[in-house]
Amino acid sequence: MNYSFRKKNKIVKYIVIHYTGMKNLESAYSKLTNNSSNVSCHYLISRKGTIFNLLPPNINAWHAGKSQWKNKKSLNEYSIGIELENKGHQYGYDFFTIRQYCSLKKLIYFILKNYYINEENILFHSDISPNRKKDPGEKFYLNKIGINRFKKKYQNNKNTSIDRCLRTYGFSIDYIKNYRSDCIKSVKRSLNYTKIDKSESIKFKKDFSNLLFD
Ligand SMILES: [Zn+2]
Repeated sequence: MNYSFRKKNKIVKYIVIHYTGMKNLESAYSKLTNNSSNVSCHYLISRKGTIFNLLPPNINAWHAGKSQWKNKKSLNEYSIGIELENKGHQYGYDFFTIRQYCSLKKLIYFILKNYYINEENILFHSDISPNRKKDPGEKFYLNKIGINRFKKKYQNNKNTSIDRCLRTYGFSIDYIKNYRSDCIKSVKRSLNYTKIDKSESIKFKKDFSNLLFD
């Protein structure tokens, strides 16, 4: 099996964005639709902008794997998974196409409206599995489709620690403790840094806290 049924007490609250990370569309499509592959998703968007609806959102697709966000584990149970065709870091990571952004925009606004999901609950695979995943990566720009998933919170003290930023952003306590540098790299990907490393520079601290706090 590569999907299951949603449990009645688990409500869809998140969208998780991925890249396929495979050499071409055909291999990604066949893997995501193969019953014995152990992976699936709800939507796949090709580089030409075609949207393939592989599973209905009321089915639990297996796209996130081992994952945590805030106090939740196994994000598949709470999310709709969207895969964007891209060879990924392993086979030749490329920028996403304009047609992909156009289709993604239509799809995301449709999902937000129909499932009452907040923009800040649009997550990247690298957010929820920072120790294992890089997708959709530093070449993905969510602001190209007019979405801002960072809602700033007010705080008095401008000198915020990186740990507090990591917590406020949504990384689980477990991941911050065990995979702190991976969490930092994940944030740098979300911020579209060209150099992805674990360094905690003053610029990084400033960029990160500016996203979260007013
Ligand atoms: Zn992924």
